[in-house]
Amino acid sequence: MQVGKGGNIGLSVRDKGVLLIDSQFNQLTDKILSAINTRITDKPVKFVINTHWHQDHTGGNENLVNNGATVIAHENVRERLSTEQFVDFLNKTFEASPLNALPTINYNDSITFYFNDDKIDVYHIPNTHTDGDSIIYFSKRNVIHTGDLYVNGRYPFIDRSSGSSIDGLIIGIEKIISIIDDETKIISGHGLLSNLDELQDYLIMLKDIKQQVLTMVNNCTTLDEIIKSDITAKYDNLHSDSLLIQNFF
Ligand SMILES: [Zn+2]
Repeated sequence: MQVGKGGNIGLSVRDKGVLLIDSQFNQLTDKILSAINTRITDKPVKFVINTHWHQDHTGGNENLVNNGATVIAHENVRERLSTEQFVDFLNKTFEASPLNALPTINYNDSITFYFNDDKIDVYHIPNTHTDGDSIIYFSKRNVIHTGDLYVNGRYPFIDRSSGSSIDGLIIGIEKIISIIDDETKIISGHGLLSNLDELQDYLIMLKDIKQQVLTMVNNCTTLDEIIKSDITAKYDNLHSDSLLIQNFF
């Protein structure tokens, strides 16, 4: 796991070379590569798997491709990176990415790699944080990268402009829980290394808040009243909402 600005990077490193999960921002590629080369290995980065299209996870793609890497992602990641994107919540437009930044191997439901003496299962989890999210499970080492389905210590960003929903997110977290066990190391999209216990608490929080909102909506409560009702209060000590302040976009 490599932490910096942007999304957490997962690494698989051995004699065959390096596989990276996500590539952070493009101005960080030199730093990322020099950290790998000085601390871990002089082997090249051969593969990059993007968990989703957001720029804090794909911004380094072009540099890494120019260094000889191949980028792999769900087909919707290529689709969204190919065209201008507007993210309503951020009120921000993202330009289409250059051709070399686009994933050249695309899958639909899942793909499996046999690399560095591990079986690496990649699953598309639809409509969770975006419509192109993947989770990546290193079955032999029992490590999972969740992308931004799970952001340890923060409330989720449900990017509705990119096709996500709270229901999709809940199903996605349940899928992760069905794959892992209490020994699994969880690399979340941002934040500290995590575990099954913390992820289960996260799921409880999501379901509880969703249910509270739903009940209020069914009682014709207005959006303003829902926002003012402070339904997240009991979770606020464990989850920040600093999405826009640090390490994102
Ligand atoms: Zn994201």
